[in-house]
Amino acid sequence: MREDVAGGCLCGEVRYRITAEPVEAMYCHCRMCQRAHGAPVIAWLTLPLDAFVVMTGNPVAYRSSAKAFRHFCGRCGTPLACREADNPRFVDISIASLDDPEAIAPTMHIWTTSRIDWFETADHLPRYRSDERPKADR
Ligand SMILES: [Zn+2]
Ligand SMILES: [Zn+2]
Repeated sequence: MREDVAGGCLCGEVRYRITAEPVEAMYCHCRMCQRAHGAPVIAWLTLPLDAFVVMTGNPVAYRSSAKAFRHFCGRCGTPLACREADNPRFVDISIASLDDPEAIAPTMHIWTTSRIDWFETADHLPRYRSDERPKADR
């Protein structure tokens, strides 16, 4: 990964930087991500919480479950981040909101139990039925 990876929302109000290597990157097929993004699958990267630095704007936080907050631009609605509600150590960032989404590629699929039948990717990445997977320091 290059140094100084940056991203932001559609309208440009929220801009952020990533200051560490991601610890994971995955496609999530869970129903909550599908609804929250209005998309069949979401590509996330996972970072230590303090490596996600908001430079401009103030993302709105929505508590989407007992476990998580989802953060999005309050002006244009772009979903940007998801973090645990209690004692978060990590934050997930939507890879497609990076200025260069090709900088980081997902290495697995999770929650394939809710994969939408008409959506298929022609890759050979590991597929996990839920979020159970070998976790690197999570
Ligand atoms: Zn925006
Ligand atoms: Zn999900």
